[in-house]
Amino acid sequence: MDTPLENPDLIVVGGGPAGFFAAITCAQQAARPPRILIVEQASQVLGKVLLSGGGRCNVTHACYDPAQLVTYYPRGAQALRGAFSRFQPQHTCDWFEQQGVALKTEPDGRIFPASNTAQTIADCLTAAARQAGVVVQTQTQVEAIDATGAPEARFNVRLRSGTLSLPPLAAGSLLLATGGNAQGLRLAASLGHTVQPTVPSLFTFSISDPRLEGLAGIEVKPAGLRLLDENGAVPRQPGMAQAGAMIITHWGLSGPVVLRLSAWGARWLHERSYQVDLSVNFLHPRSLEQALDVLLATPRVAAQAAQKTLAKSAFPELPHRLWRRLTLAAGIDERHHWGDLSKATLRRLAEELTQGRYRISGKGQFKDEFVTCGGVDLDEVDFKTMQSRRLPGLYFAGEVLDVDGLTGGFNFQNAWTTGWLAGQAIAQALNSD
Ligand SMILES: Cc1cc2nc3c(=O)[nH]c(=O)nc-3n(C[C@H](O)[C@H](O)[C@H](O)COP(=O)(O)OP(=O)(O)OC[C@H]3O[C@@H](n4cnc5c(N)ncnc54)[C@H](O)[C@@H]3O)c2cc1C
Repeated sequence: MDTPLENPDLIVVGGGPAGFFAAITCAQQAARPPRILIVEQASQVLGKVLLSGGGRCNVTHACYDPAQLVTYYPRGAQALRGAFSRFQPQHTCDWFEQQGVALKTEPDGRIFPASNTAQTIADCLTAAARQAGVVVQTQTQVEAIDATGAPEARFNVRLRSGTLSLPPLAAGSLLLATGGNAQGLRLAASLGHTVQPTVPSLFTFSISDPRLEGLAGIEVKPAGLRLLDENGAVPRQPGMAQAGAMIITHWGLSGPVVLRLSAWGARWLHERSYQVDLSVNFLHPRSLEQALDVLLATPRVAAQAAQKTLAKSAFPELPHRLWRRLTLAAGIDERHHWGDLSKATLRRLAEELTQGRYRISGKGQFKDEFVTCGGVDLDEVDFKTMQSRRLPGLYFAGEVLDVDGLTGGFNFQNAWTTGWLAGQAIAQALNSD
């Protein structure tokens, strides 16, 4: 562990990716070597980086147009638009590659270290911080911050290690990079900031339904999912209907489309204790009427092909076991002959295929990535500098803000962008002192 600094120019609360990136940027861009201290409560820094992306760390995403990039953020898109025009995934890639980290882009756009291990990213950040003269103090929690206001901002920081109170520190600038941690948000509130309540984002859906039982592992590509309100309608807010790959699991539904829907619907689902109805279209983008047209045409086609029973699916793209289950759900045995089915029965089947209703009974875990939505209110932060609009000298970066992205490297990109902007602005402020 490094020796703590006395009277640092900048105290960074939180040794995660946002805190490290801000500290390194500030040290590299200041005219004279600044005294920067990162205070981390855990015994190791960058804990989430090491866990991230299933141990591989999905560093960022190959999306280089700020206008498109912001569409991956259910919360924070507007504030990030300008921020991404200054620091976006291309800058992230350039930065890591300049530090000697080779990166690779997967076909879906996710970017990982070529080594396939998150340790590469953690090692890179700790080495760059050490080289820039940034001091790190672990196993130390910031328990309270007293601030004297403008014109001469000064932060007195009270520290604790286990049950031991440590001597307080004072600094001219302070960066809160405490992630979704409740204690960090309490610090922000104690400094006069509004905090939007935190709730989980990026999770899977728990569904117990006989139609899905025994089908774990089946992938539907693409499925169309819609959250339904108490009246059976899609709620009037963005992102409540999504399409993409879906996987049936032992506990319900997962896959990119479910994670996306969980992120957009995070707050809405939380308010309903994760007990809502979901409409599933296994034949997306076909509508009910289009599916019915195919089903009505099938008896003629099937008769010609001498496949007279429903054992042969009308939709070759649908996994056979799922087809069989959905025909049973519509009250039809697969030994039925196509020619025997009434239009009403075929409509029931089309409904099951394109508008099946499932009851979500809770949220499941997605172990590769997890974030909270909520945090410091964005209207109170200047996104050019990441400085507080309430208290000069106070800065924010990363997940402590009310920003969260979809899975795919977008949450780290928020940490890199806001960390870089904060570090640069703090360096400029130090240079002009
Ligand atoms: C399992 C998992 C996998 C993930 N995988 C990915 C991925 O592949 N790609 C992606 O883009 N995102 C991923 N994420 C999300 C990503 O990790 C976070 O968005 C990102 O770490 C946020 O960075 P941060 O620096 O803002 O906060 P954090 O990484 O949470 O760091 C904050 C740090 O502050 C410390 N701290 C908090 N309060 C105090 C205090 N009072 N005093 C001292 N220290 C304090 C905490 O201990 C923590 O170390 C994943 C998340 C999880 C949980």
